[in-house]
Amino acid sequence: MSKQTVLVIGASYGGLSITHYLLKHGGPGLKDYQVILVGAAPQTMCRPACPRAMIADEYFDQKKLFVDIPAQLKQYPKDKVTFIHGTALQVDHEKRIATIERHDNNAEETIDFHTLVVATGATTSSPLLSNGSDRTEAWKTLRAALPSAKTIVIGGGGPTGVEIAGELGEHLNGKNGGSKPKVSINLITSGDRILPVLRPALASTAEQYLSKVGVKVTKGVRITSTLPSNSGTHLSALTTQTTVTLSSGSSITADIYIPATGTHPNTTFLSPTLLGPDARVTTNPTTLRVDAAGPRIYAIGDCASAARPAVHNILAAIPVLAANIIKDLSGATTADKLFKEDTRETQLVPIGRSKGVGAAMGWKLPSSMVWAIKGRDYWVWTTGKLWSGAQF
Ligand SMILES: Cc1cc2nc3c(=O)[nH]c(=O)nc-3n(C[C@H](O)[C@H](O)[C@H](O)COP(=O)(O)OP(=O)(O)OC[C@H]3O[C@@H](n4cnc5c(N)ncnc54)[C@H](O)[C@@H]3O)c2cc1C
Repeated sequence: MSKQTVLVIGASYGGLSITHYLLKHGGPGLKDYQVILVGAAPQTMCRPACPRAMIADEYFDQKKLFVDIPAQLKQYPKDKVTFIHGTALQVDHEKRIATIERHDNNAEETIDFHTLVVATGATTSSPLLSNGSDRTEAWKTLRAALPSAKTIVIGGGGPTGVEIAGELGEHLNGKNGGSKPKVSINLITSGDRILPVLRPALASTAEQYLSKVGVKVTKGVRITSTLPSNSGTHLSALTTQTTVTLSSGSSITADIYIPATGTHPNTTFLSPTLLGPDARVTTNPTTLRVDAAGPRIYAIGDCASAARPAVHNILAAIPVLAANIIKDLSGATTADKLFKEDTRETQLVPIGRSKGVGAAMGWKLPSSMVWAIKGRDYWVWTTGKLWSGAQF
């Protein structure tokens, strides 16, 4: 009898982790099943490292930053797991069929699934932060433009905007270049402060650190338009001189404009009936099931509505998701395991290569600890065990 399929779409923090977890802990429940993991890229990467990694290869060991997915799955029996380098074009959740465009031969393939995990994450406005194939070209373009840039505008006062500003500030102006910056770097936020997830005192400290590396923060002002309109969002206009118009009525002419605002869930291949107003998959926040899709369909990570988009939430949810999938596969009728998001103040924000602000589980962390945990290498120290599955 051919094995039934557990289909996992998306091969990053959510998708690769649940694949490892099921293969390691599936036990007898997984006897008659195979896992098919579909990923739009053949490699996975430590995405949080983008703000520094985009600037120059020298900042990271590239072999640790980018990891080949099939190599991580070689440890499992061949009949248990298959990686398909491809993109999900459509999922018919009623017929339980997914249509995949394979990138090895450009052919479309349909896969009948018994169980489905949607883990396709989210896309950023800027290709510099992308998980897609456009990122390589984007980094090349940015690196070519940096030596002659005189004015840079970054839109968005969340952690990504702050991290990009801090990294560019230190790289271009130096650690103490704030009094006479070579490059004018402007961080614009519509909020009344940067880093809204953290307590106000940490946002103030972050501003001081940013000012040391020559970053000027403008608060309470929206970017109303850019000319050209696709500046910073399209490869062809990534480093094009741009007029950035602000809600205050003034404008800035920027050599480089980087939007670091918001993300868009990668969910267009699903029926709109399964999506919420923000396009995330409507996911039961405790069971991680997509209740409206029928049995044995789950979602995890940035594409799902269950929790805030963050790696620590995904890693906390993986054992719960796995337990519920394994329970379903084994036919057990016991109660579901339940996930509960930890909503305490948790966010680490490096600012340049030696400083940072942050809190974990409600506790404020000193700058040196933010550096040691995240700022040193933007979590790359954690991803070896994650991508290889050793962590599970
Ligand atoms: C710049 C930046 C910094 C960040 N810093 C932090 C941080 O410090 N700490 C933290 O906790 N979180 C951070 N995050 C958030 C964190 O990166 C995400 O929470 C995490 O990557 C989400 O993992 P995921 O598996 O859900 O999705 P993703 O990592 O987005 O991966 C989704 C995967 O699915 C693939 N895919 C998409 N569509 C399809 C399709 N149709 N078919 C097949 N495959 C598809 C994509 O190519 C990708 O490989 C950061 C994010 C960014 C952008």
